[in-house]
Amino acid sequence: MEDFFQDFKDNLVDQYTKCPAYKLICDNQNFDPSANLICEKDIENVPFIATTLFKKSADIFTQLLRVPVDTIDKWTVSSSTSGDPSIVGRRMCDLMKIKEFTTRDKKTLGSPSNYDCVFYPEPEAMKKHKSEVICGKNTESYIGNLLDIFEFKDSTIFLIKADGDELSIDINEFKEFLLVHNNMEHHLSIRGSTILFYNAVNMLKEKMPPLNLGKNALIHTGGGGWDGKKGTLSIGSALKRQVFVEEISSFLGIPQENFIDSYSFTENSFPITGHYSPEHKDYLFHVPKWGKVMIRDIKTLKPLYNKGDKGFIQMLNAYGTSTFAGASILVDDIGEIVSPDECPACKEGCMTIKILGRVKGAEAKGCGATLNVRSEE
Ligand SMILES: [Zn+2]
Repeated sequence: MEDFFQDFKDNLVDQYTKCPAYKLICDNQNFDPSANLICEKDIENVPFIATTLFKKSADIFTQLLRVPVDTIDKWTVSSSTSGDPSIVGRRMCDLMKIKEFTTRDKKTLGSPSNYDCVFYPEPEAMKKHKSEVICGKNTESYIGNLLDIFEFKDSTIFLIKADGDELSIDINEFKEFLLVHNNMEHHLSIRGSTILFYNAVNMLKEKMPPLNLGKNALIHTGGGGWDGKKGTLSIGSALKRQVFVEEISSFLGIPQENFIDSYSFTENSFPITGHYSPEHKDYLFHVPKWGKVMIRDIKTLKPLYNKGDKGFIQMLNAYGTSTFAGASILVDDIGEIVSPDECPACKEGCMTIKILGRVKGAEAKGCGATLNVRSEE
């Protein structure tokens, strides 16, 4: 993991050679990675696969593999509001790469805490939740796999209990955790699904006075949910990140600077993590050196490079996609370039972006059309 460009090129050549569906897309755009990917700048010409192509309904996820289907270890699937999840074949070697990222990303993920309480089910339960068999292989929740990789301490409290297909929150256990650590300034973390956490805090607000967990507490959200939906759960409207951070920070007595959020999706390999900046009133996501993000204009799909530019997020993977065509993925989330090379808040030397969420209404229809036109090429 030292030379991103060379490793990305090797990965892309491998994908071009082993995935006929991707080769077809490249051939139609007259792009041959061996000949046309010579320098960093050429990356903007690399054809992408839109995440919509991995949807169950598109029915070509088996053709987006680079290896025979009987050699994959599992189908990783997204949590889906519509019943139309993304389905991505993976082998353990690819999941182990993600583990390597997590190990290298310790700095952004916060110093180790002594007490952890999470709004997730136990990884095994999450992985198996609503699992089915497709082409002889089990489906497993992608988030469940990420949780498994994260390696929670044995003492971690998992607040979401799985009972068959149903998931429920143990609110009393959460309340107890908060009371035990109130006014103690313990090194603790509360991690998990944004909406579940937000809902739980709102429930407690009606029953107890504000708390003071202090400056050593970390709040780490992940798995999206900012659009107000997660799986079959909905709070009816989008949740503004600023509102979430300000309300939780004030009720739990934790500084806003201690809030981080991880962004990942099933078709991609490297998660990116952002820390909240009270000044920017948003999370600033650092793009790690083992991945690359490109922002593309919503209408023209042309690459954008300047501060303030907004567009679709394209993820370029050099690692962890040896099983499937995941080297270059376009997702229908909108990102904004905060800085091409340095985080303005903590001065880390990396591309920094905000994640603005999905496009809406008429614009979304336009985008859908754009994505489909591109994917049919
Ligand atoms: Zn930063």
